[in-house]
Amino acid sequence: MLFIGCHLSASKGNVGMIQTAEELGANTFAFFTRNPRGSQAKPLDIADCEKAMELLRQKNFGKLVAHGAYTMNLCTAREKDRLFTRELLKDDLSRMAYLPGNFYNFHPGSHVGQGVETGISQIVEALRYAMEPDHPVTVLLETMAGKGSEIGGRFEELKVIIDGVGSERIGVCMDTCHVYDAGYDIVNDLDGVLEEFDRVIGLDRLCALHLNDSKNPFSSHKDRHECIGKGALGEETFRNIVNHPLLKGKPMILETPNELPDYAKEIALLRQMEND
Ligand code: FE
Ligand code: FE
Ligand code: ZN
Repeated sequence: MLFIGCHLSASKGNVGMIQTAEELGANTFAFFTRNPRGSQAKPLDIADCEKAMELLRQKNFGKLVAHGAYTMNLCTAREKDRLFTRELLKDDLSRMAYLPGNFYNFHPGSHVGQGVETGISQIVEALRYAMEPDHPVTVLLETMAGKGSEIGGRFEELKVIIDGVGSERIGVCMDTCHVYDAGYDIVNDLDGVLEEFDRVIGLDRLCALHLNDSKNPFSSHKDRHECIGKGALGEETFRNIVNHPLLKGKPMILETPNELPDYAKEIALLRQMEND
């Protein structure tokens, strides 16, 4: 079963997103847990969460992949800001507890000149603070393009974070644009990249994917998404991904530069590729 969807606006609530997803031919989706560029979150609507959980089960949706705010940098340099940021993370996770069993993905952070080691230890500290021992949502670290001082461009960095947190409830969301930009050649050697992921992190930690083509060439460390088949990755790469036995059943989320009608077309294209 292919679980495919795209990033949706959370303005109509969880039930509203499920309706939109169905209209687009999607059976999973992503959304921001709060304003992507700020820190404001809408008041939590528990009835909407409960109704959504019931609908997701009824309609056989795959796991949802919520996305933390871009501005949430767990390894920002000022301690005061780090303490504020880890409260945002804790709040996000406590809200996600009303959508149990789903995923919460975020960008690990940028060390802003403090160094990779310091950055990683600050990320670990924040996650250990924010993750309740029994919280019902798996936290996913997104693979990053390695732009600037971004952490998470190397599988090794994600592995150190995962080991530092030491929880069953932490995994990875692989962004196809980001890994290619980071220097993992999923165009010519998807098998090799998955083997490396398995060797360094373990494929049991790979929980979800972001499907994006890239506007930039291999290993460019840029992070500019392109529509499926229109960038450096090309259609064939996505055909390989949706049909790869090791990726079967994992939620795949489009974050391509599209409005909803074009998301529907990309979802249909990927479903067609799976059946070819
Ligand atoms: Fe992301
Ligand atoms: Fe992404
Ligand atoms: Zn990106």
